[in-house]
Amino acid sequence: MVHRFEGSFTQQEPIPEAAVDAATAVLNHGRLHRYNLAEDEVGEASLLEREFAAFTGARYVLAMASGGQALAAALRAYDVRPGDAVLSNAFTLAPVPGAIAGVGARVVFVETTESLTIDFAHLEEMAEVSGARVLMLSHMRGHEPDMDRVMRIARDLGIVVIEDCAHTMGGSWRGVASGRHGAAACYSTQTYKHINSGEGGLLATDDPEVAARATLLSGSYMLYERHGAGPDADVFEAIRDFTPNLSGRMDNLRAAILRPQLAALPARVKRWADLHDAMEDGLRDLPRLSLIDRHPDLVRVGSSFQFRLPDHEANEIEALLDRCARRGVELKWFGAARAHGFTSTYRHWAYADSPALPQTDQVTAGLLDMRLPLTFSKEDCEVIARIIREEVSGKRR
Ligand SMILES: *Cc1c(COP(=O)(O)O)cnc(C)c1O
Repeated sequence: MVHRFEGSFTQQEPIPEAAVDAATAVLNHGRLHRYNLAEDEVGEASLLEREFAAFTGARYVLAMASGGQALAAALRAYDVRPGDAVLSNAFTLAPVPGAIAGVGARVVFVETTESLTIDFAHLEEMAEVSGARVLMLSHMRGHEPDMDRVMRIARDLGIVVIEDCAHTMGGSWRGVASGRHGAAACYSTQTYKHINSGEGGLLATDDPEVAARATLLSGSYMLYERHGAGPDADVFEAIRDFTPNLSGRMDNLRAAILRPQLAALPARVKRWADLHDAMEDGLRDLPRLSLIDRHPDLVRVGSSFQFRLPDHEANEIEALLDRCARRGVELKWFGAARAHGFTSTYRHWAYADSPALPQTDQVTAGLLDMRLPLTFSKEDCEVIARIIREEVSGKRR
């Protein structure tokens, strides 16, 4: 019997050598600010924008200081005003309601299904009730809904969809890159996401005016012609003097660290799939434990793993978390009474002031979560699954 898992759930892989070399080159020439360029130089931030546009198929990409900044810029670029209602799925992370609150708008949460995706019937209902023009759809923990269906509903209701792809960079729906269904998509390059620059974000869209507004909002000092995947200068003419500078740029150092990681992302996605499969295989057919359904047309990035214990009481789950933690398995629980670290739910965001969502409450009450960093091996996942299995079933074999 394995007594304890010794790995770290928060330890990412080191930054690859090619990225360290690229970062060293930027440090050596000292031109860290994205607009500080030598003659004829295309800076790292612009190159990253071009490469991410090619990777996703988006016409325009803007590199930003964080995923949260990208979300906020997208809302402003679509002219969301103080007091406006913005729809969002309730199962998300704090930066999403934070971005909505940050522009003074009112978040209207939509119920979550047992597949951890947005409930379509409730979406239609809340769209009618609230009159919202925008849905900020968060692909939380990689669980993407049927995007064709989302876009049909959005078209019928006249709603703009902004996708939060912090957990789906590198994934796809029916062969189309995650983030390419809605009007705009926001990605994060924070350490715990799929490519790591400490902090950072990317905004992708096909809409030239939205791209231009976001660029001005990011703090482009009228140097927007120095971007790698931005719209033509004439798109900026009408709006350049009316769009405030909110200073949320990415710098060349972060971009340099990200470019080699972006090139390696497809290979990483495959490795994550192997880890995620190992977790599912290890926990399949266990009484009282439910795995999360996934649509066969979704390529999910398995950078984290969730499961449900639908008929467990809160005290039973707390005791299970303790037992697993003592054996080195760090599980996070979305049903806790208060926010813990990165783990929180809509009930904890008092500023967002949402009515109760009984279906979401029921799902999150039994929802457990863990990271799967690429420093884990398949064998590590087998050990973790065995420990969870033993502790859930009360049988140590
Ligand atoms: C991390 C994250 C973000 C925002 O990313 P930051 O770069 O940390 O601002 C947005 N949505 C979700 C679901 C996230 O996990």
